[in-house]
Amino acid sequence: MENAIQFAYVVSAALFIFGLKQLGSPDTARRGNMISSIGMLVAVVAALLSQGIDYTWILIGVAIGGVVGALAARLVEMTSMPEMVALFNGSGGIASLLVGAAALDPENNGTFTLVTIVLSILIGGLTFTGSLVAYGKLSEKISSAPLMFVGQQVVNGAIVVGILGSAVMFCMNPADPTWLYVVIGLSLLFGIMAVIPIGGADMPVVISLLNSYSGLAACAAGFAVNNNILIVAGSLVGAAGIILTQIMCKAMNRSLSNVLFSGFGSGKQDTTEVEGEIKPISVEDAYYVLEAASSVAIIPGYGMAVAQAQHVVKELTEIMEANGAEVNFGIHPVAGRMPGHMNVLLAEADVPYDQLLEMDDINPRMESVDVAIVIGANDVVNPAARESEGSPIYGMPVINVDQARTVFVLKRSMASGFAGIENPLFYKDNTRMLFGDAKESIGGLVREFG
Ligand code: NDP
Repeated sequence: MENAIQFAYVVSAALFIFGLKQLGSPDTARRGNMISSIGMLVAVVAALLSQGIDYTWILIGVAIGGVVGALAARLVEMTSMPEMVALFNGSGGIASLLVGAAALDPENNGTFTLVTIVLSILIGGLTFTGSLVAYGKLSEKISSAPLMFVGQQVVNGAIVVGILGSAVMFCMNPADPTWLYVVIGLSLLFGIMAVIPIGGADMPVVISLLNSYSGLAACAAGFAVNNNILIVAGSLVGAAGIILTQIMCKAMNRSLSNVLFSGFGSGKQDTTEVEGEIKPISVEDAYYVLEAASSVAIIPGYGMAVAQAQHVVKELTEIMEANGAEVNFGIHPVAGRMPGHMNVLLAEADVPYDQLLEMDDINPRMESVDVAIVIGANDVVNPAARESEGSPIYGMPVINVDQARTVFVLKRSMASGFAGIENPLFYKDNTRMLFGDAKESIGGLVREFG
């Protein structure tokens, strides 16, 4: 039996790795997700069979968790996915904390197991509360502004020292759980303290980091309960999360320590000055310009997701191509509200993947683009990031749509984007504002071509 269980673990580890590989491209991502889920099912069944226990409570838990998961998957809006991921990470964290605590057996635990118990409680606890704060900030249930105060780093340092000290005390005398309770309390507190100074705009990076932490906590819990597949799965999540964190930091041209400790945007007033005037354009006039264009770049952002305009965008793309234009999409790594948000939406509308160009590939071509169509994007095309030292996003790489011959910006009003800052693009000589819901504006253009 033991051999069969270990074999099942190897099979599920292989399925995880194969599934992860398939997540690398939108074409195979759904399959990858399915393969990894099957791997998880194999792992859960094998783990349950390895224990000669009463399954009543486990089945009740599976039923409740299954219903909650299925409802969440169906009901949660695409635009709220990051919040949901934050809650998932938090659940992973608290699960590891509970598994670590349940693994405590002072009579039989060796020092190594005690250390892994402490680690799963520490990382799991801070992941739990950190994720709840991240969820609150993203959903704007609490202020997304960085919360900073004098002596914050000292307080956080003191908490870390407190955690380490209590962890040592606990390992020296595991029969007395008092120090373990202190570790639990301080870890939960540390999660809150670590995330409150980070602004809403940096939350995607934080969530991806917390995702990595939830994996590390699971890995530590795997050592604590001596379960190989938990160690493997936790390591995979930990590694994947840290890679994504690095990719996102690079996209924002910031170091991880700058994201975590600088309170991005806090206290930095936006002193960007705008010159020029807003020049609105009608759908009809925009059509005449597009009809004559031979090269078009489409830059989607969060507003395309809100308007659910991806299908009609695909329709417009095909019409313009049939009209002889070359059409490409420029995808900024943090466009939308979650990593890969635009890729997912465009894949849903069957836009060919090779038509999607990354920021570094589209920017050098921008000067030869006749029309750049900005669909509900704002921060990711803001030239202040390049030109205005007084802008809170100064230094962040953006898609340089202002270098195209003509820019159409599709949005409903002059409202700012996620970062809440001024965008000089809207006032440039070559920019025309096509006001209205993106789906309606694009639908209008499609009708004009028809
Ligand atoms: P922004 O949030 O900067 O701008 C979106 C724009 O879309 C708004 O200016 C809004 O203007 C417009 N809009 C909203 N609804 C519609 C609609 N129905 N039709 C037309 N336009 C609409 O989006 P970007 O994608 O440019 O930038 C993403 C921002 O989000 C960055 O600051 C990034 O750091 C942050 N972020 C990214 C995450 C990620 O992982 N990708 C996660 C969390 C935050 P108006 O209201 O006038 O219509």
